[in-house]
Amino acid sequence: MPISERDKVTQFTDLGLSEVLLRALAAEGYTTPTPIQAQSIPFLLEGRDLLGIAQTGTGKTAAFALPILDRIVRAPRRPQPNSVRALVIAPTRELAAQIAQSFRAYGKFMRISVGVIVGGESHGPQIKQLARGLDVLVATPGRLLDHMGAGRVRLDTTEVVVLDEADHMLDLGFLEPIRQIVAKLPKARQSLFFSATMPREIAGLAKDMLREPVNVSITPVATTAERVAQEILLVDAAAKPSILLELLARPDFRRTIIFTRTKRGANRVTDHLEAAAISAAAIHGNKSQGQRQRALDDFRRGQIRALVATDIAARGIDVDDVTHVVNYELPDVAETYVHRIGRTARAGREGAAVSLCDSGERGLLRAIERLTRQSLPIIDRRSEPHEQPAAAPSRGPKPAPRNQRQKPRFAGKAKPGTKPGSAAPRGNGNRRRGSGRPQVAAE
Ligand code: AMP
Repeated sequence: MPISERDKVTQFTDLGLSEVLLRALAAEGYTTPTPIQAQSIPFLLEGRDLLGIAQTGTGKTAAFALPILDRIVRAPRRPQPNSVRALVIAPTRELAAQIAQSFRAYGKFMRISVGVIVGGESHGPQIKQLARGLDVLVATPGRLLDHMGAGRVRLDTTEVVVLDEADHMLDLGFLEPIRQIVAKLPKARQSLFFSATMPREIAGLAKDMLREPVNVSITPVATTAERVAQEILLVDAAAKPSILLELLARPDFRRTIIFTRTKRGANRVTDHLEAAAISAAAIHGNKSQGQRQRALDDFRRGQIRALVATDIAARGIDVDDVTHVVNYELPDVAETYVHRIGRTARAGREGAAVSLCDSGERGLLRAIERLTRQSLPIIDRRSEPHEQPAAAPSRGPKPAPRNQRQKPRFAGKAKPGTKPGSAAPRGNGNRRRGSGRPQVAAE
C-alpha cells in the first residue's frame, strides 16, 4: 500500500454513515473516529456481530450507537407497543444514563425514541415508556427482567442487542440475568459484545451470544495504564487523611477523583475534605440517583474540585479533563486500578494518578504491577523508618525489601523485580478474588 494511502486518517465521512449522523457528530465537535469506531463501524453497518475488547474512554459508545442509529434512519419504523428495536444492556445506572445521553446527542437530527430502564427508580414512568414502544432501550439487567416478567416488554422483535462492560456484569453477578434476557431475543439479530477483559465466563457468554463476530481489540489494559503518569506514596495508614489534604492543596489538582473501597470510606473522606474547605461530593450506591447526578454535574462544571467515589459508582463516569485520580485505598482487584486511573486519560488525553499505599496494601500493589507490567515509582512518605511487616496481613504474599522499592518521583520504567516476562496471567484469579466484596453486592 502506498505510504500516502496507509497514513490517511479515516474520517467519519469515510465510514458510510448517514448524513444526519455526520451532522450530529460535527455538532458534537468530533472530527476523526477513534480506533474502535474506525475499525467497528463499517462492519456493524453491514450487520455483522462484534466482539470488542475495549474499555470506557476509547469511544466505544459511539462505535455501537452510530450504526444502531444508522439502521433506524435507513429503515424508520414505528416501534410496536411494548417492544424495542435496539436493546443496550449496561451494568450500572450511571452508565445506562450516559449511553442514552449519547444516543440522544448523536440522534438529535432524527426522530428517535430512547428509553432508560434502571433500578432504584419508580416503575410508573418506565411502564409508560415501554407501553409506547421504543427505538432504543438502555437498561440494567435486573429491572429489565422485572418488566419482562410482568409482560411489559417483549424482545421478540428486537433487531440489535448490545452488551456493554460484560466483565463488569460478571463482577456484579449479572451473568445469569443476562442469559435469561438473551434467551428471549430472536435468533436472527445483530449482537454486539463489549468487555475490557476476557475472563473465562465472559468468553463463554460471548461465544454463545455472537455469530461469526468481527473481533476488535483496543488499548489493552497495560497500554492504558502507561498513558497515565503514576506514583505510589508509601504511607502510614493513619497519615492518609493529612496526605490527601496536602495533595489537594496543590493547584494542579484541579479536578480530582478520589477512590475509596467502601461507601462509608467515601463519606468519611468527603467530610474530611469539606472540613478543610475543599469542595467535594461523594457518589456511591447509597446515594440517590438525583444526588449522584447532582454531584457529577457539579464536578463537570467545576463547582466541586473533588469527587469521592466507590468503584461501582464510578464505573460509568464520563468527565473530561479530570486532572488527577487519587487512590485513597488500593482496590482489591488489580484490574480495577486500571479502570480507576483511566478516568483521567479520557479520549486520548494524559493524566496523573497518585496512590496511597499503606503496609497492609503492599500485596495489592504488587498485583497491580504484575497486571500492568509496569514498575510504579514509589515515594516513601512514612514518618518513621519502618521494618517490613513479617507478612502483609491477609492481603497476599510478603512484600519486597524496602530498599529495592524506593524510587525517585516519576522515576521511569526500569525496575528491579518485575520483568515484563514475569507478569502473571491477567484476569481470572484477581477478578474472582474481588467479586464477593460486600460493598459490591450492596451497590
Ligand atoms: P466512551 O469510551 O464511549 O465512554 O467515550 C469516551 C469519551 O470520548 C466520551 O467523552 C466521548 O464523548 C468522547 N468521544 C467519543 N468519540 C469521539 C471522537 N470520535 N472524537 C472525540 N471524542 C470522542
